[in-house]
Amino acid sequence: MPHDVWLKKGREKKIRNGYPWVQRGEIEHGEGEPGGLVRVRDMDGATLGTGTFNPASRFPVRMLTTQEEPIDQAWFARRLAKADQIRRTRLQNTDSWRVSGGESDGLSGLIIDRYGDHLVVQVRTLGMERLREFWYPALLEALKPASVYERSDMAGRNEERLSPHAGELLGPVPETVVMHEDGLKHTVLIKEGLKTGFYLDQRQTRRAFEAALKPGDKVLDVFSYTGAFAMRAARAGALPTAVDMNPLAVDTARADAALNGLEFPVVEANAFEFLPSEAPGTYDWILLDPPAIAKTAEKRDSLKWGIWKLAYHALPALKPGGTLIVSACTYQMSLPMLVDTVRLAANDQHVILNLEHMTIQDIDHPAPIQFPEALYLKTGWFRRAD
Ligand code: SAH
Repeated sequence: MPHDVWLKKGREKKIRNGYPWVQRGEIEHGEGEPGGLVRVRDMDGATLGTGTFNPASRFPVRMLTTQEEPIDQAWFARRLAKADQIRRTRLQNTDSWRVSGGESDGLSGLIIDRYGDHLVVQVRTLGMERLREFWYPALLEALKPASVYERSDMAGRNEERLSPHAGELLGPVPETVVMHEDGLKHTVLIKEGLKTGFYLDQRQTRRAFEAALKPGDKVLDVFSYTGAFAMRAARAGALPTAVDMNPLAVDTARADAALNGLEFPVVEANAFEFLPSEAPGTYDWILLDPPAIAKTAEKRDSLKWGIWKLAYHALPALKPGGTLIVSACTYQMSLPMLVDTVRLAANDQHVILNLEHMTIQDIDHPAPIQFPEALYLKTGWFRRAD
């Protein structure tokens, strides 16, 4: 039987509205077993739902449901089957998507990406770790994968007092899988790649980018990883150059270009050294998609400084009338903050930029507006005045 936790008066409202996290200071009394389930109640004793409990976490309670229902294998199987089916129906021309985004899919702490028939999972919380006996068989039942690999090897696990871990759950797991998106083939580095192997979340921006290109446009794809943006550009008849400092990403980008019958240079370089060395007025498009160096509010300033520096060095290389596309992939940097940071760089370079377009993470990474933290990826499109 789950233990009970009572929330302070007033704190029940956001939970009723679908917000999934309870902070320590919001608990009036009660606690659960580390990693166990707790029933969450308001001060009148009414049940708000069930969540997992971890006394060591910044968010001791993470909600799983606001209904009165048992959390068991059948519960997970229903949620996973539904989440997968919605993506399969709504996403066109791809065989790969995020099946579960964790809390934004009502599965706090459980990330599942589908690459064709292969799954990559990431367990982020102690609670989800303890529920493995339910979700793992449910995942096999509902998603019928050919293989399952676990990539719980991210630093964030330490905060939950979990050690990073990676390995096969259902083998044999291939080193790489080729996924298909809009007629392009992408190699997914299941075991050795970043995150779960590929940036599914940028699909919306990739599509908008390809649609905006004209043949002959000169494109610089900085932080290219396996070249997903550069490949779109090459296919559109533009002239991309991809830049990344990770040798495995660079090799894979080159191999994927060949796999798709495309040709473009892929440069292994540090973006902070590469950008200042580019000739002025060279590019019609410059993409900056740096890694999320700020997962916490304390690191926000270093991310801002990093983006300022990148934009500052990229702007001279952009033609008048060219567009700078900047992504920030952390909740810690909001879109207004991103615009503000790029504005400071533009001021320092005496360049006027028009914000023309904004894109976000694609729909398989849901962003419930009741849970603002879910909107982590935003991209501003800034056109340099002629
Ligand atoms: N644009 C990619 C995803 C980028 S992820 C896509 O859509 O698929 C961030 C990338 O930045 C990683 O591939 C990482 O190797 C690279 N990277 C990190 N720091 C870098 C630096 N200083 N210079 C160049 N590349 C860097």
